[in-house]
This record gives sequence, C-alpha cells and structure tokens, in this order.
Amino acid sequence: MSDPNELTVLNPATEEIVATVPAASEEDVAAAVVRAVRAQRTWAAVAPADRARLLRRFADVVDAHAEELARLEVREAGHTLGNARWEAGNARDLLLYAAGGAERLLGRQIPAPGGWDVTFHEPLGVVGVIAPWNFPMPIAAWGSFPALAAGNAVVLKPAEATPLTALRLAALALEAGLPEHLFQVLPGYGTTAGRALVDHPDVAKIVFTGSTRTGREVMERCARLVKPVTLELGGKSPNVVFADADLTAALDPFSFLDNCGQDCCARTRVLVQESVLDEARDVLADALAAVVVGDPADEKTRMGPLISARQRERVRSYVPDDAPALRGSAPDGPGFWFPPTVLTAERPDSRAAREEIFGPVAVLLPFTDEQDAVRLANDTPYGLSGSVWTKDLGRALRVSQAVRAGNLSVNSHSSVRYWTPFGGFKQSGLGRELGPDALTAFTETKNVFISTEGPAQ
Ligand code: NAD
Repeated sequence: MSDPNELTVLNPATEEIVATVPAASEEDVAAAVVRAVRAQRTWAAVAPADRARLLRRFADVVDAHAEELARLEVREAGHTLGNARWEAGNARDLLLYAAGGAERLLGRQIPAPGGWDVTFHEPLGVVGVIAPWNFPMPIAAWGSFPALAAGNAVVLKPAEATPLTALRLAALALEAGLPEHLFQVLPGYGTTAGRALVDHPDVAKIVFTGSTRTGREVMERCARLVKPVTLELGGKSPNVVFADADLTAALDPFSFLDNCGQDCCARTRVLVQESVLDEARDVLADALAAVVVGDPADEKTRMGPLISARQRERVRSYVPDDAPALRGSAPDGPGFWFPPTVLTAERPDSRAAREEIFGPVAVLLPFTDEQDAVRLANDTPYGLSGSVWTKDLGRALRVSQAVRAGNLSVNSHSSVRYWTPFGGFKQSGLGRELGPDALTAFTETKNVFISTEGPAQ
C-alpha cells in the first residue's frame, strides 16, 4: 500500500530508495493556485524583453547545473547518462527558444471599414501541467516554459515515480530570479493532486502527457468547465522499411529501444517489405545482440532498466517465454531489467501488435507493396510518429502524406526538436507542443476594433 501523504522515489537500476517526497493534497493544490493567480498578475505586467531576460537567466542556471540534473534523472528514472545529458540540454535550449518567443508574441492588424482592427495574444492565467515518468524533465519543460514565456503562471504535477528533476528545476527558477510562486512544482498522486488541478476553476488550461486512458478522463473533466486541454498520449508507431532502404540504418534498434522503449514515439511496429524480410531479421538479430544493457550511469551503457516492477510485469505479459522472438540480454539481480526483444510471429491484430507496450519490445510484420504498407501503418487507433525508409523520393512523399500521424521522418528516426511542432493524430492526442506556435497555445486571442469615426454628433 502506498502512503497517501508521501511518494517514494526508487532507483530503477538498483531498487534503492533515492528520496521520499511529501505528496500534495487537494488543499495544497488549491493553495498553490491562489499563489499562482497572484504571481501571474505581476508577471503578465513585466515587459516582454524583461520576461525574456529572466528566462534566459533561468537557461544559464539550468546550463550551470546540467550535469547535476542529468545525474538526478539517471537515479530517479534509470535513463542512460547520455540521454539524461541531452534532456537537461533540451530543457535549457527550450528556455532560450521560448524566451525569444516572449518578444515576438505578435498580434495582427486586420483591415476593417471605419476604424482599425487589432488582435492581441493575452496570457491565459494559471496553466496546470501534468507530466508522466518516462521523460520527466523534457516533458515538464515542454508544457511549462512556453506557458511562462507567454505570461502565464504554471503549477506542475510530476509523475509519482519521478518528482525530483522537476522540483530541482523549480528551485533553479527561483535562483535565476523568476518571481516566487510563478513556477510551482507539486509532487502528488494523479487521483488526488492531478484531479484537483484539472478540476480547479482558476486553472485556465491543462497540458496533460500520459496514457490515453487517463487523458480521456482529463478531457472529460476539462469539458465540464469548458477548459482548454492539450493531450500528448500513447503511440504504436510504424517503421516502414521498403526493400530499397539502407537496412542497417532503417533497422537501428534504438528506434524502439531508446529509453528502454518507454517512449511514446518508439517505432514498435517494424513493417518490412517481404522480399527483404529474412535479411531484416538477420540485421535485427545482430543489432539486438550488440546492445549494451546495464548500469545507466556508465557512459558505455546504451539501455537502462524499466521504471518499475509493475511496468516490467506489464511488459512481460506481452512476451511469453515460448514466443518466437529475437532477444538481446539484460542483467540479473536488483533492478527492473528487460532484454531487447523483437517478436517475429505476431499477427497484425494480436495484442502485442496493437497495444502500446512501453518497454523494449517491437513486433516485426511483413508487407507486400506500398498500398499494403500504408494500410498496415494506419491500422491503429494511435497516430503519434513513424518513419519511412526508401530511396524512392516520390514514394517517400506519397507514404508520408498517407500515414496519419503527427511526426514522421523519412530516412531518419528523429521525432523531437524543440523548434518544430510535436503532437499526435487520432487517439495519440490533441493540440501541439513546441515549435514556432508553442506560445500561442497558452494565450487567448483578443480582437479589438477601434473606430476612427468621431463620437456621434
Ligand atoms: P498516466 O496516464 O498513468 O500518468 C500520467 C500523469 O497523469 C502522472 O503524473 C499521473 O500522476 C497523472 N494522473 C494519473 N491519473 C490522473 C487523473 N485521474 N487525473 C489527473 N492526473 C492523473 O501515464 P504514465 O504511466 O505516467 O505514462 C506513460 C504513458 O504516457 C504512456 O502511455 C505513454 O505513451 C504516454 N506518453 C505520451 C507522450 C506524448 O507526448 N504523446 C509522452 C510521454 C508519455
């Protein structure tokens, strides 16, 4: 039984306790929102250039503590050191990018007879951000920093398992000189603190990242208050590999093993043209055997543990011992380890081929031709990301247009850049984060018409 007043943070690589943290109650959330409302009024009145200057200073402080933040992420989330360093850098870079946005939050002047018509982007007020455990630091940053830059206050609830880097970011914001209570982090349980944030009438918007199931509940609760919501949810993304592709690059196992597969963009459906299926199987078998799985704090490690015992049980349920599969290795002993795995005899309608596993497990599925590839790629309720590998440019363009997903890459497995929009089609989500429009998602558009006719005589 977990203690409702406390969160226990475990190191997933050792199962040792890293920290215990008080869990916020409904009353704590309500008090934080009152403080945030006050802080936001002051912040919105700060000139955009000064807001930008403070956010750049925050970026400098994050940069100065990047190694400390990365090592904390390794301990609380089991991320490899290389990944965790990228994550701290991502938080810093997004602050710099968003700071520039504060100075460029432009309205429009629209021709209208009898006067001038102008639009303004006004901050929403207090934004609630609810983050998952798989990328605690970047996802906290993506929801919070553009919102702050646009003149809002933020109350962030990190996931139960991973509150530490978010708490540290809030402390660094204060150190950088951001006003008190502008960026508050409240660790707590989803069904208490999370719900309280979603239901609070003075929280103007919710940014939720997590499972599709919880996202649906968050959206229903927001609907009662007609509260805007951004949802970044699950995925079951395709990697479409045509016979003419560079198979070694296309079948890079880190397209589904990065972060031990706990990545909503993981390309876990490996769709391979049947004429090169045997060759693809060999390439994957060699690649899985070469993956170094182990202590995430070791610079040579490429894959760490899963987040928890519960997650490992869930992943295991998709991989019976006798399932035909290619398997890598994983350490024994303490830690939530699972070997890199590719299931080779799944049907497209099997549980493993349809559900998000959120572990280092992919399914290999053959297709016949371009039409069959697109049909299979779209045969999912999700639509977050995907890759297309072919040397035929026309086919690459046709398939990218036909696949219903928010983030596609051609001859590449990249998904996330802080300067390009990120989000899902279908049940992978609603709205977009990052990119040039990141700040406008945290504003209301106000239209003002100013008559040039004199007062009526
Ligand atoms: P989760 O939905 O269980 O929890 C996510 C967050 O929501 C946590 O902070 C949790 O405390 C909170 N929460 C739980 N119940 C709540 C409720 N009733 N009301 C308000 N908040 C509540 O998901 P998880 O297990 O933490 O994360 C894994 C999932 O997140 C995966 O399905 C993954 O695909 C998804 N994910 C999506 C993206 C994306 O950008 N699309 C990114 C990362 C993770």
